[in-house]
Amino acid sequence: MTDTISVREGLFRETNDGPTLLAGRCAQCARTVFPATERCLECGDDSIESVELGAEGELLCATVVHMGNGRFDAGHSVGYVRMPHDIRVFSQITTSGEQPLPSGTPMRLEIAPLWREGEQDVLAYRFVPTTTKEADDA
Ligand SMILES: [Zn+2]
Repeated sequence: MTDTISVREGLFRETNDGPTLLAGRCAQCARTVFPATERCLECGDDSIESVELGAEGELLCATVVHMGNGRFDAGHSVGYVRMPHDIRVFSQITTSGEQPLPSGTPMRLEIAPLWREGEQDVLAYRFVPTTTKEADDA
């Protein structure tokens, strides 16, 4: 029997409309950050509300990492995705080829077991391009 744990509480949640990332919005100055912090980074207030960012974003930039790190093999992609509230999320990027995706690519959030720790699958988030162009491996 396999247990599943979340990489960290409060980063994302499944809704009826699909997964959403959870940011924190300061009730005082409206600064919104992801991941949510206990105190506002702008004004120091601790009245932080949870805000759903949804699942849709746009790729700002991505790169291919040529070094494995224990969780991901060499050749995986990471990048920044721009979400609502002008939030930039650093994330694993799922691609079908070796080339990094161009900036501006529409991206969609995906919650999945991304690696294992001991006997447990760790549930985390990543982004996949919504316009999937399968690479022609001729
Ligand atoms: Zn604030």
